[in-house]
Amino acid sequence: MSVLIVGSTALDSIKTPKAENPRLLGGSASHAAVAASFFSPVKLIGVVGNDFPSRYINLYKRHGIDLTGLQVLPGKTFHWSGEYEVNMNNRRTLLTELGVFETFTPTLPKTHQSAQFVLLANIAPSLQHHVLNQMRRPRFVAADTMDLWLNIALADLLKLLKRLDLFVLNDSEAHQLTKEDNVFAALKKIHKLGPKYAIIKKGSNGSILSGPRGYFICPAYPLHKLVDPTGAGDSFVGGMMGCLATAKGSIEDNMRRAMIYGSVVASFCCEGFGLNRTTRITLKEIEHRVNELSALTRF
Ligand code: AMP
Repeated sequence: MSVLIVGSTALDSIKTPKAENPRLLGGSASHAAVAASFFSPVKLIGVVGNDFPSRYINLYKRHGIDLTGLQVLPGKTFHWSGEYEVNMNNRRTLLTELGVFETFTPTLPKTHQSAQFVLLANIAPSLQHHVLNQMRRPRFVAADTMDLWLNIALADLLKLLKRLDLFVLNDSEAHQLTKEDNVFAALKKIHKLGPKYAIIKKGSNGSILSGPRGYFICPAYPLHKLVDPTGAGDSFVGGMMGCLATAKGSIEDNMRRAMIYGSVVASFCCEGFGLNRTTRITLKEIEHRVNELSALTRF
């Protein structure tokens, strides 16, 4: 089964205290698609301008990502720039140039409309709705978001929550949405807004799932050095959806394991700028870290 992923396809200029890298391949959908591609076929829905380097198209292709739904329009690719503080946790957006993203209307090719697993990666909630409106009967729909949409598109986001199986957000966004400081209280409120499953991400402290079988505390892989955490959240949910799409059995049976795989792919993402490290991961390396996480949490 393939995963349909919609989100931003961007050029990212990233600054950390140690280095600066301009115009890397980025965007929520790019990170999620590459992460998912280790486990399942991926169909990408997005838009880029005619300045988008062909080496990035080739990179998607090397990961077997179906690009039938990637629009190439005259104009500039969405460009985002961010700077990390010394702690590598706090990030400041320096620049957001929408380019062709401004007028983007995601249109699904016929072949994509019957996809069973859908990931609405970070993008305006109105566009996430637009994609869902074109789908037949997906088996599992997950969405991610960011503080910007909670600020400027809350009504659309609240409507979207009613159409989701899984909502993924980070702890500060969960606080912003629910006004709860306690993650468990926040998770309870998120369920009341619609989704059967909710995951709150806590960066290097892992993530917490709440679902029909209760809570699951998913650890982050203990990294000793972070190069660039951009896209770690997207890699987590992308890897997780890729696993869910190919696993046998029910979603409930596979959810926890899928989160562990997502967490491992996210750890690799943090070890290089942009997608530099993620695109070089081998399945053997993934399995090795999964086993390490398993050993770390067994008692
Ligand atoms: P994360 O580190 O998970 O917050 O994701 C970072 C990615 O989000 C970068 O690759 C950016 O290109 C992308 N991004 C930043 N701002 C936006 C936005 N307003 N809409 C969609 N994607 C964005």
